[in-house]
Amino acid sequence: MNTVVKFGGSSLANAEQFKKVVEIIHADEARRYVIPSAPGKRFSADMKVTDMLYVCYAKAKSEKDFKKDLAEIKKRYQEIIDGLELDLSLDDEFKIIEKNFNNHAGTSYAASRGEYLNGIIMAKYLNYEFIDAAEVIRFDEDGHFNAETTNRILSARLEEIERAVIPGFYGAYENGKVKTFSRGGSDITGSIVARAVMADVYENWTDVSGFLVADPRIVENPEVIETITYRELRELAYMGASVLHEEAIFPVRYVGIPINIRNTNQPEDNGTWIVESTCQKSRYVITGIAGKKGFCAVNVDKDLMNSEIGFGRKVLQAFEDNGISFEHMPSGIDTLTVFVHQDEFADKEQKVVAAIHRLAHPDHVEIEGDLATIAVVGRGMKSTRGTAGRLFSALTHANINIRMIDQGSSELNIIIGVANEDFETAIQAIYSTFVDTV
Ligand code: ASP
Repeated sequence: MNTVVKFGGSSLANAEQFKKVVEIIHADEARRYVIPSAPGKRFSADMKVTDMLYVCYAKAKSEKDFKKDLAEIKKRYQEIIDGLELDLSLDDEFKIIEKNFNNHAGTSYAASRGEYLNGIIMAKYLNYEFIDAAEVIRFDEDGHFNAETTNRILSARLEEIERAVIPGFYGAYENGKVKTFSRGGSDITGSIVARAVMADVYENWTDVSGFLVADPRIVENPEVIETITYRELRELAYMGASVLHEEAIFPVRYVGIPINIRNTNQPEDNGTWIVESTCQKSRYVITGIAGKKGFCAVNVDKDLMNSEIGFGRKVLQAFEDNGISFEHMPSGIDTLTVFVHQDEFADKEQKVVAAIHRLAHPDHVEIEGDLATIAVVGRGMKSTRGTAGRLFSALTHANINIRMIDQGSSELNIIIGVANEDFETAIQAIYSTFVDTV
């Protein structure tokens, strides 16, 4: 067995958390490759080391004195080293960092030091080999992650190493200049390493026991999702559910490596399994509910629209010409509705309406704002009769007016539109129908 384990910032925020992590790693021989994040918050008002580094470097870049800020960062690491009673000094590392900050080594370089230094500590504590991610994770000149080159370099390197720590979040261009992924990117590194060693499982350790069926800020104590497919996860993540970085599933998805989301503070929980495909039925007909507020519906009417070739294209052209992407487009016989993000659309609405008139000659265009969309996602819906009926009756009972219905052709989801103000009540009603009353 070969397991890649990634630990998030809150799992490595201080020495106590480090001890939990090492206990987890030692509990299973197969946990051979470890990807640490930078130290996260120790308490809710605390600052993540990555954020401290951004602030510190911004000062360096504008030639302000950053010594105090850097000393604060060093203190965070020293606390961990002391708490673990390690015979390790980061003095030389901090001298190099200070010099590079003075030479304006770049924001990416600055941010990456969070995981780099945590990786050094972790490797020392575990007695695993340390591999600088800049040597094995490659970006091309345009700043895109170079998956194939990385996989070649990384798999060759790791073939010879039984156990290693590889810091998350960054890599480098061909010329060695450091580049980070977007925020939360250590999740991606874990996935890249899992692919390179063809791991049996990629464990992603965080501070929750997996994905929840609904947002806990809306539904009290929601159930944990035991198993979710990559496709279901994409649907839910797109609608705003976030535990894992969006791009983290791609390296492992096509090579069949499952991801297991686990809780460092409750290692006995099974967490959530993210898999390519499964015959395991989800406990409920639905796997999860997620949604977003802040949409606008642009309703376009035209008699005999259904027989006019190219009508839809002309309407969408009006959005494209104004640089606006659309989210959903349900249609009727003589009507078509385009859902867009209100904040992107608001400034340009009159330009878009004028363009629709010019390009498509509709009878009427009407705009409705302050709408929310909710996705009800589940692989079980396909084989269960009456799901839509239950969903709509739940909303009717909660007195909610449904403004839009859109069922994906995969029957993996039903997306509904409601008023922003009905958003929370709608999610609660759907949850209680499908989960509470089973
Ligand atoms: N430390 C980085 C961040 O805060 C990357 C990560 O934690 O995944 O975004």
